[in-house]
Amino acid sequence: MAKNLISIKNLSVSVEEKQILNNFNLDVKNQEIHAIMGPNGSGKSTLAYSIMGHPKYRISSGKIKFLEKDLLKLSVDKRAREGIFLSFQSPLEIQGLNYFSFLKNSFSSTHQERISPLKFNTLVKERISLLNMPENFLSRDLNVGFSGGEKKRAEILQLNLLKPKLAILDETDSGLDIDSLKLVCNSINNLKKENKEFSAIVITHYKKILDFLKPDFVHVMYEGKIIKSGDSSFANYIEKNGFTKIIEDYKKKSK
Ligand code: ADP
Ligand code: MG
Repeated sequence: MAKNLISIKNLSVSVEEKQILNNFNLDVKNQEIHAIMGPNGSGKSTLAYSIMGHPKYRISSGKIKFLEKDLLKLSVDKRAREGIFLSFQSPLEIQGLNYFSFLKNSFSSTHQERISPLKFNTLVKERISLLNMPENFLSRDLNVGFSGGEKKRAEILQLNLLKPKLAILDETDSGLDIDSLKLVCNSINNLKKENKEFSAIVITHYKKILDFLKPDFVHVMYEGKIIKSGDSSFANYIEKNGFTKIIEDYKKKSK
C-alpha cells in the first residue's frame, strides 16, 4: 500500500481564541487528489494555513506528519523546502517585488540543485507560454495590477516551477474564466503525471474544477472537521443537493 504523504491526526486549531478546527483528520497518499468542499466558515482556509504554518493559527492539539516528519516542528520556510505549496485564496500584491525575481528566489530557496540563470530563464519562458501568459508579466511587480485570473495563473506558474510534493489550492478556481480554469487544471494534471511524488488538496465551492481534476476523494467539511467523504461522484450529489441534508444527517448521528 502507498505510504501517506501527509497524515493529519485529531488536529485542533484556534484563531484569536476561537476554535476553528476541531479534531480534524485527513490522510493523503502519494498521487492522490483530495477535494475539500463545505459551507463558508467551516475552516477550509484555516486548515490550509495550519498545514503551511501561519503563525496566527494556534495548534492546541493533534499532529501533522509529512513524509514521516513532524511537520508542526518545522518553520514555514522549512515546510516549503519539504515540498508543500499553498496557493492563497487572495494572493498579495507586492509593490517593488519583481515577479521574475520572486520566481527565482522562491525556486532557489526551496531547491538545493543549482540552475544557471540562462536555463532558469528558458524554463520560465517555456512554462509561461504554456499558461498563455504574456512574457511582459515577468518584468512587472508581483500581482500589482494583475486581474484576478492573472494572479491565479501567476501562482500556477510558480507551482509549475517549484514542483512541490503537496499542492494546496485554496479556491484557485474562483474568478477564473473557463479557459483559464482548463489551463490551470491541465498544468496540475501534468504535474501529477510528470512527478512520481505529487498530491493535491483542492479547496473549492464548484464542481467544475473537479470535472477537470477528477479527484480521488471529495470531502465535506463542517465546523472544523470532515463530516462526510466520497469519490468524485459525490461532487455531483453536492452540486444537486447542497450541504443541508449532509449536515442534518451528521447532526442526527452526533447527538
Ligand atoms: P472557510 O475557508 O471554510 O470559509 P475559514 O477557515 O476562512 O473558513 O474560517 C473559519 C472561521 O474562522 C470563520 O468563522 C472565520 O471568521 C474565522 N477566522 C479565520 N481566519 C481568521 C483570522 N485570521 N482572524 C479571525 N478569525 C478568523
Ligand atoms: Mg476559505
